[in-house]
Amino acid sequence: DAPVVIIGAGQAGVTCAESLRSGGWSGTITLLGDEPHGPYHRPPLSKAWLAGELDEARLVMRAPEALARKRITLRTGVRVVSIDRAARQVQLADGERLPYGGLVLATGARPRHLPLPGSDAAQVLPLRSLDDASRIAAGLARCAELQRPVVVIGGGFIGLEVAATARDRGLAVTVLEAGPRLLGRVLAPMLSHWYARLHQDHGVQLRLEARPEAIESDAGGVSAVRLADGSRLPCALVVLGVGVQADDGLARQAGLETEHGIVVDDCARTADPRIAAAGDCTARRLADGTLLRLESVQNATEQAKSAAAALLGQARPFTTTPWFWSDQYDRKLQMAGLSGGAEAWALRGELGGASFSVWHYRAGRLVAVDAVNAPRDHLQARRLLDAGLTPTPAQVEDAGFDLGSLPG
Ligand code: FAD
Repeated sequence: DAPVVIIGAGQAGVTCAESLRSGGWSGTITLLGDEPHGPYHRPPLSKAWLAGELDEARLVMRAPEALARKRITLRTGVRVVSIDRAARQVQLADGERLPYGGLVLATGARPRHLPLPGSDAAQVLPLRSLDDASRIAAGLARCAELQRPVVVIGGGFIGLEVAATARDRGLAVTVLEAGPRLLGRVLAPMLSHWYARLHQDHGVQLRLEARPEAIESDAGGVSAVRLADGSRLPCALVVLGVGVQADDGLARQAGLETEHGIVVDDCARTADPRIAAAGDCTARRLADGTLLRLESVQNATEQAKSAAAALLGQARPFTTTPWFWSDQYDRKLQMAGLSGGAEAWALRGELGGASFSVWHYRAGRLVAVDAVNAPRDHLQARRLLDAGLTPTPAQVEDAGFDLGSLPG
């Protein structure tokens, strides 16, 4: 078999390499990652790891020896700078060229920058990598030492997880959200309001429709965030959680279709039969022609399996229900399906109670379920969504009704 090169040694890259091997690929597999670390799990970086509840060894996704046993060559600290599709080679930053018979793009995403005056200061930090997280951990320690607040810009999952962790450590925290509600892109209004209350009850200062105008620094580093309404929020750390953009530059430069992500079909294939792509760097073309971008471990894992199958000459459509989770304080949100465009909701349990779930309907069909501290509801929801089954709102709202009894 011709050599396979995988660019990006994250969730998608590792899964693809292992799936190729278990799928029978006998040739060389080279996994290239530009970070200095071997593959690690990103989700704990804003949760248990940042809270100091998980040591670094537990972040490791796959030890280099485990990959070596599968004859997967891992090279870290290596950046691919271009793809030559005609010669079937990738070029590394140091000029080395590697030939490929099959190529997988698993380059992930990079945090959006905020073009504000002062945002290049050392204590204005995004969170994507382990190195970013280490800098934020040091920044939180500095806030504790100086007894100065943290300002989080962006009320999305990563920003809110950092806010919760910082509050749990006793720091003063302000969250600035540009929109009218938290998590507005991904949650129904009732859950956005519930999250706002949860954070406020834990002592977070929440500013919605906030317009940061500049970040101020003094000789000691970052000192405040100034808002368009004239207010000034003193702080010693600014965490940026304003979203990511797909890392699709290599693909674009190689002439592959990109549209806020590398465009792939439901089998993770690009238009070049030798090149597949998986994970946060992709935008998946759906049957109705629209593009879907997901940033989740499940998406990266499933798409990577499809990418491996594609290189093995098989079509493995990835159509399972998307799922995601977020931990904030002692609440675990588990989301299944895509709730965008829902126009009716049913509630199982009591909103704000110890555990509950919100069931989203569009055109009379169940499309998504968001469960809070309700893992059983989440698992049942995934089963129902995968099977295309829709319980009635009355069944959902009846706590005594066994959703598992619906035929699957
Ligand atoms: P990545 O894991 O980003 O891996 C891509 C790798 O490719 C990176 O190491 C990158 O440096 C490297 N790379 C890029 N360009 C090149 C190049 N030219 N040459 C060599 N290497 C290159 N998802 C969930 O489902 N649940 C969660 O609770 C959750 N929490 C998260 C919390 C945080 C703080 C973060 C950052 C993410 C979280 N996610 C969560 C998202 C999840 O981690 C991502 O969806 C997943 O890691 C995507 O995997 P990937 O392989 O596509 O990309």
